[in-house]
Amino acid sequence: MSDYNDENIFSKILKKELPCREVFSDKNNISFEDINPQAPIHSLIIPRNKFKDFNDFIKDGTDEELASFLKSIFNVVKKKKVQESGYRIIINCGDDGNQEVPHLHAHLLAGRNLGNILTKH
Ligand code: AMP
Repeated sequence: MSDYNDENIFSKILKKELPCREVFSDKNNISFEDINPQAPIHSLIIPRNKFKDFNDFIKDGTDEELASFLKSIFNVVKKKKVQESGYRIIINCGDDGNQEVPHLHAHLLAGRNLGNILTKH
């Protein structure tokens, strides 16, 4: 949590300085629609606490926060009714993961066949 930048976009959404289209909220997490959806369903799930990325979350998150994050992702799966049709969960981390916003977030993508996991180069 030490080098967390409080000015990132998701921090501003958490502080209600920026709007979002909320999907789900609980004590430890919120979910909102991605502003630039890559599939018919593209929601983001973020912990309320200040974790820059997945590394920090595993290092500093409590067991309750870790479990709660996974459960909140599944709550969004249920809310979007994609349990049966299927979905993809993505967490980008660091430079090679191409993480753009430095506050841990999971992408939930669904609503069509999502193809191969990576574009071939
Ligand atoms: P990542 O590359 O994993 O860091 O993903 C960042 C995601 O945040 C991208 O899919 C963006 O479209 C999304 N995003 C950026 N700004 C906003 C915003 N203000 N509200 C919702 N989603 C956003």
